[in-house]
Amino acid sequence: MTKHTHSFQAEVAQLLHLVTHSLYSNPEIFLRELVSNASDAADKLRFEGLNNAALYEDNPNLEVRIAFDKAARTLSITDNGIGLTEQEAIDNLGTIAKSGTKDFMSKLSGDQKADAQLIGQFGVGFYSGFIVADKITVESRRAGVPADQGVRWVSGGTGDFEVETIYRAQRGTTITLHLREDADEYLNAWKLKSLINKYSDHISLPILMEKEEWKDGENDQPGSMVKTGEWETVNQASALWTRPKKDISEEQYTEFYKTISHDPEAPLTWAHNRVEGNTEYTQLLYLPSKAPFDLWNRDKKAGIKLYVKRVFIMDDAEALMPTYLRFVRGVIDSADLPLNVSRELLQESRDVRAIRDGSTKRVLSMLEDLAKHNQHDTQPNAEGVTDVVDADDRAKEGKYSQFYAEFGAVLKEGLGEDFANKDRIAKLLRYASTQSDTASVGLADYKARMKEGQEAIYYITADTLAAAKNSPQLEVFKKKGIEVLLMTDRVDEWSLNYLHDFDGTPLQSVAKGAVDLGKLQDETEKKAAQEAAEAFKPLLAKLKEALKDKAEDVRVTTRLVDSPACLVVQDDGMSNQLARMLKQAGQQAPETKPVLEINAEHALVKKLDGSVHFNDLANILFDQALLAEGGLPEDPAAYVRRVNALLV
Ligand code: ADP
Repeated sequence: MTKHTHSFQAEVAQLLHLVTHSLYSNPEIFLRELVSNASDAADKLRFEGLNNAALYEDNPNLEVRIAFDKAARTLSITDNGIGLTEQEAIDNLGTIAKSGTKDFMSKLSGDQKADAQLIGQFGVGFYSGFIVADKITVESRRAGVPADQGVRWVSGGTGDFEVETIYRAQRGTTITLHLREDADEYLNAWKLKSLINKYSDHISLPILMEKEEWKDGENDQPGSMVKTGEWETVNQASALWTRPKKDISEEQYTEFYKTISHDPEAPLTWAHNRVEGNTEYTQLLYLPSKAPFDLWNRDKKAGIKLYVKRVFIMDDAEALMPTYLRFVRGVIDSADLPLNVSRELLQESRDVRAIRDGSTKRVLSMLEDLAKHNQHDTQPNAEGVTDVVDADDRAKEGKYSQFYAEFGAVLKEGLGEDFANKDRIAKLLRYASTQSDTASVGLADYKARMKEGQEAIYYITADTLAAAKNSPQLEVFKKKGIEVLLMTDRVDEWSLNYLHDFDGTPLQSVAKGAVDLGKLQDETEKKAAQEAAEAFKPLLAKLKEALKDKAEDVRVTTRLVDSPACLVVQDDGMSNQLARMLKQAGQQAPETKPVLEINAEHALVKKLDGSVHFNDLANILFDQALLAEGGLPEDPAAYVRRVNALLV
């Protein structure tokens, strides 16, 4: 047979380099990854077998066998799942098909520790075998394909791999690891069993190992364990989610999560339920503690595996979870859906809609529970009551903050996406504010602290926290001690289009429309403002004329204290920040001119009237207001020229 040598895709070579040089901290995970692949292969066969029973050939009992050979220093994992054709071996074991891979690889820094962390988020799968092996042989034959069309794939885990056609009677795949010098410990039945117990007890596929028994040595030679030729199942071999909750340990839940998610970190929390009623299903849903590298990929799929009566149907079943909860991982096992359900069918099924609604609510409840226990009052409240905190509560402490830092921005998309649960989502949102630099202020907290007479929840959107905090638009709010929410996520402005009020109180951008502090302003302030507006009428007319190409209107404002001027948009307008963002993204933003508001009390403004430099000053005022909110003057050189002219 002829052998063909192929080069790994550049990203694979890079990944392999990392695997062999950085992933030493927890080498034993290779077994979990390979058994997980074997289990996937069995799932795929079961699924294809639904329509084509011939694929089972004459061997319907799906299983994994793990064997080792001390003398040859090899460890092998054999499954009788779907198997690989030669082309599939070349494609699947030589390239990475995940979208965003290149992008991800470019983030690697060369710092081994940091990269090892990152790569964990990416998932190394099959290639983790190279942590313990300096050569891997894969022999496989796809189910339903003649025995003379098997494939052997061999690689030392550096630049290339060899492929040749072989005869293989047996369906499925054998992965043989040629262990490194320092990986002796895996040539031991006891060790392997303990790893299987730890990592793979929960998969539904039976994992078999050959029984060993003690044999005394002859002629004064020491005794040893010898293989008996009899195989035994060494895991529980029942799918974790089908077992009663009380029989599942926290560690088992965690390991199951790691297997299905390829995330090396433990999950934040999970919910495991059997739902009965019109539609029957089991849900096991996890909240990860770290965002995956591709969270922001537009085509990122939901992380839910769909099973029907314990038969695996598909990965990434997006119909089962709304997009704004795409970070949720887990399994849904339906008792009602037909086994031959397709993605298209899923979109239309009433059962699926019921499952999706139920699962969405479950996730929101999980989040509410974390939010509730995020912080405990160690001080007695007004009624003299201190939170009673038990160990369960303690375990949840700080988790909502952790969740929010990773996924808060995604959750916000829910305001626009999930109308039915909008109120629940709104309660889960947290923002920074003029009273807190971290995103920890909920809308309900804000409401509870509102000033006497305050009629709106005030917020500002900006590119950065610093820009938001220092915005001139906040001046009067600071002076009056009114809290303003500071929003710096890209999705904030868009999402707030869908949230006009919270619990009956309107949300009001401090950068939109004229400020109306309503009852927060006293009569003298109102009167002074009216008088100023009257007195400034002639000046405003001159400013409007001077700035007619730049500003929609010019008016006197009470929102400023220290700054001479600021820009605002009309009530129904798109904020300047959003317009800038759209332009940066190469999209069309409506060309609307902002309103220039001036501070009648400011020395610079007072100086304007009658100045010989009126035109320059007016333009500087406008351009500075633009700079102050993070924009750029349309003609920066002209701005500099004007300022310099005044300076000399
Ligand atoms: P992932 O499992 O995340 O897709 P891996 O690197 O672990 O990534 O595996 C790459 C691909 O190789 C799998 O998607 C699958 O198509 C194939 N593969 C790996 N192991 C097996 C196996 N035991 N049987 C059949 N196909 C396999």
